[in-house]
Amino acid sequence: MTATPAWPPQSAPRLHVETQLGDGVVVPVDGNPAHYLISVMRVKPDDIVLLFDGRSGEWAARARDIRKRDLMLECVSQTKPPEHVPDFWLCCAPIRKGRIDLIAEKACELGVARLQPVLTRRAVVDKLNLDRLHAHLVEAAEQCGRTALPELGSMMKLDALLAGWSADRHLFFADETGGEPLEQSLHKHPGPAAFLIGPEGGFDPAEAEAIRATPGAVPVSLGPRILRAETAAIAATAAWMTINGDWK
Ligand code: SAH
Repeated sequence: MTATPAWPPQSAPRLHVETQLGDGVVVPVDGNPAHYLISVMRVKPDDIVLLFDGRSGEWAARARDIRKRDLMLECVSQTKPPEHVPDFWLCCAPIRKGRIDLIAEKACELGVARLQPVLTRRAVVDKLNLDRLHAHLVEAAEQCGRTALPELGSMMKLDALLAGWSADRHLFFADETGGEPLEQSLHKHPGPAAFLIGPEGGFDPAEAEAIRATPGAVPVSLGPRILRAETAAIAATAAWMTINGDWK
């Protein structure tokens, strides 16, 4: 008895598109995504490509009108409903290029709803290339099977973030000088959350005081060792996903 082929094909490429997807919607593709499909993935007419637009779930689309540099993809069936994204924000100070890219990629894979860069006094980096970070989010979402990208905030100064903080979102403050044990604190504070991670030089005392004074702030320890900012961001997100996220 031959096994029925898996649907959608396991090898089907996945692509994030801006076009609102739906039954019969035809998506024109050109530029790098077309090069990837035509020249790298060697997509042929009627091959399936999986598409997601961030709001309509995932759709299987058939390739057609394939030319040298562009093609069309016609949506034929929805393969995943819009995902429920865990209500978790990762707020982190900008750190060196390769490392902030790592945080963006891992935050997306881990299911984060929003990545919010926060400018702090000891940050060694004071500007970010949001287009490059967005590209990392897209690539990570295409790889990990997400149907929605994390939101990517523009850089905010710490005092502006704190001034506008809504107390109904727990602000877990990763304080390397000490805080509540993480597991106990996460169990104690379920619901919408954010983690705030400092830069390579940490938070200065005045910043730490301002964060602790913010309604909704919960200082937490990430253990006895001093973690690099990217390690702290990834570890904290994984811990939250385990206890309050969708790693059930
Ligand atoms: N100033 C620190 C380094 C900062 S580490 C030093 O003593 O060298 C970068 C950020 O990661 C910190 O600001 C904090 O948000 C987080 N972090 C690192 N280790 C941590 C720990 N053990 N507990 C809580 N947060 C930690």
